[in-house]
Amino acid sequence: MLVEDLSGMERAVALYASDMPTDYRLQGPVDTTLIGWISQGAARLGREETRRRASYLLGHRKLWLRDMTTPEIDRRHNERFPSARRLKLAESMASTSYFWAPVAPAARDIPAVIDGPCPKCDDAGKLWARWVIDAEAEWYEEGYGPCWVCQPEDGAA
Ligand SMILES: [Zn+2]
Repeated sequence: MLVEDLSGMERAVALYASDMPTDYRLQGPVDTTLIGWISQGAARLGREETRRRASYLLGHRKLWLRDMTTPEIDRRHNERFPSARRLKLAESMASTSYFWAPVAPAARDIPAVIDGPCPKCDDAGKLWARWVIDAEAEWYEEGYGPCWVCQPEDGAA
């Protein structure tokens, strides 16, 4: 599996699962050891699991940024990544790796997935709202639309 085919979040997840020491520091301008650890962690988890965990990590981030995480969602997140310090390091190393191993265009879009009941729609997957059809014409319609928190955004796989 090529490191280039892994998105940033997937690289972070792979590094977390690898042998990388939690007090690791970059070795020189091009750190091939780091690239090796990304491959190691991704191979260890497998392609599917790496992607799944990265999607959950993105989902958790999306909620966390809006102060919307629930105890259940936090619990699952902490089970998956027990060390916040290691996760922080893995994420920072993953972004550094872009310099030597750019993310392939096809690898960029992974969906954010909420691991647990959705705090916005309670897993209905839809929300009652007023939707703008044409703002200039002041044309609005009320109805159900996909929940913006737990449903994949347009364009994402
Ligand atoms: Zn929802």
